[in-house]
Amino acid sequence: MDFRFSSEDDDFRREVGDFVESELPWDWRERAVDAEEPEDAGLVREFKRKLAGNGWLTMAWPEEYGGQAAPHIRQMIFNEEMAYRGVPAGDSGVRMVGPILMLYGTEEQKQFFLPRIAQADIDWSQGYSEPDSGSDLASLQTRAVEDGDDFVINGSKIWNGAHSGSDWMFMLARTDPDAPKHRGISFLLTEMQQSGVTVEKIPMMWDAHRALVTFEDVRVPKKNLVGELNRGWYVGAALLDFERSGVDRPARAKRLLEDIVGFCKENSRNGKPLAEDVTVRSRLAEMAVQIESCRLMCYAVAWMQSQDMIPNREASITKAYGTEMMIRLYSLGMQVMGLYGQLDPESSWAPLRGRIENGWMRSHGGTVAAGTSEIQRNVIATRGLELPR
Ligand SMILES: Cc1cc2nc3c(=O)[nH]c(=O)nc-3n(C[C@H](O)[C@H](O)[C@H](O)COP(=O)(O)OP(=O)(O)OC[C@H]3O[C@@H](n4cnc5c(N)ncnc54)[C@H](O)[C@@H]3O)c2cc1C
Repeated sequence: MDFRFSSEDDDFRREVGDFVESELPWDWRERAVDAEEPEDAGLVREFKRKLAGNGWLTMAWPEEYGGQAAPHIRQMIFNEEMAYRGVPAGDSGVRMVGPILMLYGTEEQKQFFLPRIAQADIDWSQGYSEPDSGSDLASLQTRAVEDGDDFVINGSKIWNGAHSGSDWMFMLARTDPDAPKHRGISFLLTEMQQSGVTVEKIPMMWDAHRALVTFEDVRVPKKNLVGELNRGWYVGAALLDFERSGVDRPARAKRLLEDIVGFCKENSRNGKPLAEDVTVRSRLAEMAVQIESCRLMCYAVAWMQSQDMIPNREASITKAYGTEMMIRLYSLGMQVMGLYGQLDPESSWAPLRGRIENGWMRSHGGTVAAGTSEIQRNVIATRGLELPR
């Protein structure tokens, strides 16, 4: 067994890095670009099209669906390089909808959606949570009623990114209200630009928004049902396993840690360089260990995906560990920067262009989005350690 990347993999990593460095808009490296914010969404899509032009966005997909049938490890290297350089390239189409359609989609769905996802032609939003359904997702109430060739949708979905002008939503809706709650749900793909869809923005505590989407008699053709009718819970749950895994967190963390280390080398407190402070040094080193551990866990998940296995407890482990690690990292940044760390990106005194203040608030949302840390621990306990429910 060889634990190193091959020389071809290393060459590929360099090629991706060089391309991004030469093409990246000048300020992306220094600020948190948010693909779910309208002012960034267009730029992100433009940049993803360039990456798609190189065949990189979905390189591990089969050629017939817009991929290059490349080894999964290459896709992981690509994702890692993107996250390290602050490019939000791994959208939910590439990361979640595409893999789910390959597992459960009809041939017609694959032919229509996969090449468009590969070319970054579709922006998706995720319609899982509802105002009264979060962790207990199976209690969702949005109804999809069969009517001729269509489903008619009524209800609402919250906390998603639809405000950035998403084209399609992948959603869970109740198709049989009389069945046990996990067994009356279906997985649908809904076009967003149609009458009956209302999108309202909700401000977040950091400089961003999420959306509340209301559906009033919205028609979805039955051909947009993914998987079996009333069995959408299982499709939706498999999608979560793709969502929760991801090498992007340790890659983003590595970059931020490097920036915090740079700050410590350039700044002093009480007349002493921060980089010479024993406590600061050991906290930075401890953080480096955590990031490396997280990276290796994500590699294991990527390997499972390359073997056509769906990571489940493994995805929950990386999700819980990775998101909580991000909080620890931003908190460390906040502590070494002292009061300056609390300045927002508008302040000319803010170190790292206010990324610490903004990211610290955002990082707490990370432990909630895609299933809270408590829910991940429940998954690890039951499916990983086989403890009773
Ligand atoms: C930044 C952000 C982005 C998001 N993006 C999307 C999106 O794109 N699409 C989408 O559909 N949703 C999205 N969400 C919603 C997210 O999935 C939910 O917020 C999450 O599932 C928790 O649901 P809730 O907010 O209703 O909290 P609740 O479910 O009400 O939970 C409240 C508290 O109780 C705890 N708790 C609940 N049940 C249990 C249990 N069984 N065991 C132990 N503890 C429990 C929780 O851990 C939490 O601490 C996003 C959320 C955030 C913060």
